[in-house]
Amino acid sequence: MAEQSSHQKYEFKKKLESLRGKKGRGTELISLYIPPDKQISDVVSQLRNEHSQASNIKSKLTKTNVQGAIDSIMSRLRYGTVPENGIVYFTGAVDVGANKTNMETTIVEPPQPIITYRYHCDSSFFLSPLEDMLKEAKTYGLLVLDRREATVGLLTGKQIEAFRKLTSTVPGKQRKGGQSAHRFQQLRLIAIHDFYKRIGDAASEVFLSVDQKDFEGVLIGGPSPTKEEFESGNFFHHEIEKKVLGLFDVAYTDESGLPELVNAAGERLEDLDLMVEKKLMQQFFRELVSDSGKATYGEDNVRENLIIGAVDILLISEDLRAVRETVKCTSCDYERKTSREFKPGDSSSPTGNCPKCGSYLEITEKVDVVDQLSEMCDQMGTRVEFISTDFEEGSQLLKAFGGVVAVLRFNTGI
Ligand SMILES: [Zn+2]
Repeated sequence: MAEQSSHQKYEFKKKLESLRGKKGRGTELISLYIPPDKQISDVVSQLRNEHSQASNIKSKLTKTNVQGAIDSIMSRLRYGTVPENGIVYFTGAVDVGANKTNMETTIVEPPQPIITYRYHCDSSFFLSPLEDMLKEAKTYGLLVLDRREATVGLLTGKQIEAFRKLTSTVPGKQRKGGQSAHRFQQLRLIAIHDFYKRIGDAASEVFLSVDQKDFEGVLIGGPSPTKEEFESGNFFHHEIEKKVLGLFDVAYTDESGLPELVNAAGERLEDLDLMVEKKLMQQFFRELVSDSGKATYGEDNVRENLIIGAVDILLISEDLRAVRETVKCTSCDYERKTSREFKPGDSSSPTGNCPKCGSYLEITEKVDVVDQLSEMCDQMGTRVEFISTDFEEGSQLLKAFGGVVAVLRFNTGI
């Protein structure tokens, strides 16, 4: 899978947000998930089947809307082939208020492959398979162990897979008659050490098979003090050794220990996702308080710095929704550009009259602020990062700094 840019991810997220807000008046919104390996002819025959089943719907209006939506999808399908990751159609009579509906279609090409074909008809769109894709497909190495058994696995996105299972020949604590206690203890320690070494080798092999760019780190689970003993013994390959993220108490060391380990590490994993964003925000705050002049905030200042190519990193709040409108006078040459926040479904008209001649004003252009700023960054080769509001600095970005700040390459005085 090609790595999605921060901006593509933002666009995808925004599309889902808009779909989430759409409601049908009855059970009449259709979500159709088509995996990449599905034949279009199969989809068409399945839709024909749904179409005829829809004739049983009691409400005449709902029936008309459902059949209309199916027709609409079928007419689009006929000309298309399925893209690399599959395709999703969201079609239906969406409630637009004032007792009206509007037949709408949104087509989404997902960032990751669609696994299952689904036809879903409900009063809202079915989004969870796409929402799951927003959670990034990072990979973590999993290891659960005690002195008898160990299981090695990987967590990719939300999927857990076991790769290797090892069992030990470490003798129990009970020694056989005739063996000296000292000798027995020595043999036991050697056997434990050998087992740890086998575990380290097997796990390193699995973890190194992952593209290290996507490999976030290793989680170790098991009873104490076994896992601590293993960890302190440097049994991993040195590249993997550096990536141990934490040790967690886990009761099972067979395959069922892997999901237990992921659960135990849950909070820590979320923290890691936020860590990168947190560091970026801290960098901004450091520049801000140091008075180096290398921090700026507010849309206008950021815009000016972007134009002269002075922005090193642009940080935009994931929850910023703003449009920039060009307002012109209908009779003289007066013009102004202003940005304002908006909510999905907002419409607006200019307030007030022309300050120069008093005539009517009209909006002649409307652009999405986030899109525009990210495009400027693309052109200038500037790094842009979207910051969630799930942590303190991230929420400050939106609330105290208007959702847009930048770390500058040099002091521009702006
Ligand atoms: Zn005017």
